Amino acid sequence: MGYIKWLGHAAFEIEIDGKILYIDPWITNPMSPVKLADISRADLVLVTHDHDDHLGEAIDVVKKTGAKFISVYELTQYAISQGVPEDKAIAMNIGGVMVVDGIEVIMVPAHHSCTRGTPCGFIVRGKECSVYHAGDTGIVHEMSIIRELYPIDIALLPIGSVFTMDPRQAAKFTEILRPKVVIPMHYNTFPVIRQDPELFKRLVKEKVPEVEVVILKPGEVYRF
Ligand SMILES: [Zn+2]
Repeated sequence: MGYIKWLGHAAFEIEIDGKILYIDPWITNPMSPVKLADISRADLVLVTHDHDDHLGEAIDVVKKTGAKFISVYELTQYAISQGVPEDKAIAMNIGGVMVVDGIEVIMVPAHHSCTRGTPCGFIVRGKECSVYHAGDTGIVHEMSIIRELYPIDIALLPIGSVFTMDPRQAAKFTEILRPKVVIPMHYNTFPVIRQDPELFKRLVKEKVPEVEVVILKPGEVYRF
């Protein structure tokens, strides 16, 4: 049994095969139900790009817990410069596949911008589940190919628009990905990305009714 806990915005705590993963842990986001002080254990910390709303407190979590920091090469170099031990900084790039602590991590494209390296998404696969975190991205057709290689159980997709996909694009992307479950993220953190997740749910149901749309409240957990 594993779980996915939404920490608001693009931040998630995920347990797969007994490992604790954080993705884009911006713990100080306005919707976050947890504080950095609440985090005592982590095995892997994955960061999709270096914008503050994604890098967040990732380096603090790594220093505090001894977790491994996984990101694009240039961002790992920055993390090292900020005190992350070199042996805890795992550098990857688009297309890369690594098994870290028994969890398969695949770095996939995201169409966005950043300062260090390139933005990405991640697929993390354990025995229990495969989870795709899209990062910040517009709709990317390449994922239809990646889906053939790595079927996705749970997709975490942005719907906030302005900086990422909106609900309409995210519903189309869900149709391309065909996960078992889709969870919307990266919305309602601040006024400019205000969206109604129920609209996303309706659009997905029209296109791919077999996909379950799970709308989490910050702090809420989906178990698998
Ligand atoms: Zn963002």
